[in-house]
Amino acid sequence: MGQPTNIEWSEMTWNPATGCSKVSPGCAHCYAETFAERWRGVPGHHYEQGFDLRLWPERLEQPLHWRRPRRVFVNSMSDLFHEEIEEDYIAQVFDVMGRAHWHTFQVLTKRHERLAELAPRLDWHPNVWMGVTIEGIKPPDLVDRAPSLGHGRARGVAVGPLSEPVVCVLLSAILKRT
Ligand code: SF4
Repeated sequence: MGQPTNIEWSEMTWNPATGCSKVSPGCAHCYAETFAERWRGVPGHHYEQGFDLRLWPERLEQPLHWRRPRRVFVNSMSDLFHEEIEEDYIAQVFDVMGRAHWHTFQVLTKRHERLAELAPRLDWHPNVWMGVTIEGIKPPDLVDRAPSLGHGRARGVAVGPLSEPVVCVLLSAILKRT
């Protein structure tokens, strides 16, 4: 289900997949995990399986039904480039983003290596803003994923863990340069 969001840089969330697993120190305080695990075991709830990875193919075409142009945060409750999400499914997400050209889709990943691997084979469209997360401020905490932006048409960087307004400012600044 698409949901309005309080995130400053986005208007809607679209979650064709939910759930994830930790991949770096920046995942330690994952808001999505905290939210999803709250509902684990509740019969019939979207997060009955907690934060276990789950695909929702029935949600794939949702953006095509939203007539007003929106900034859509893709997989706010997961990571689209999670290793257990098959390439074909990711390609379907990109296909929908291309067909729903009146929206702007914001995709953030911490899995920069898989992004780099798949990017040449994905169908990129100008309305897809791709971002990777950069964590920490100096070694050994620094996890620098920015080089992945050289693959495909990625054009954004988020820095974490930081508050959303800071991430928003950084995204805006970087996007103005691209
Ligand atoms: S990659 Fe993102 S969604 Fe997945 S566990 Fe880490 S912070 Fe949470």
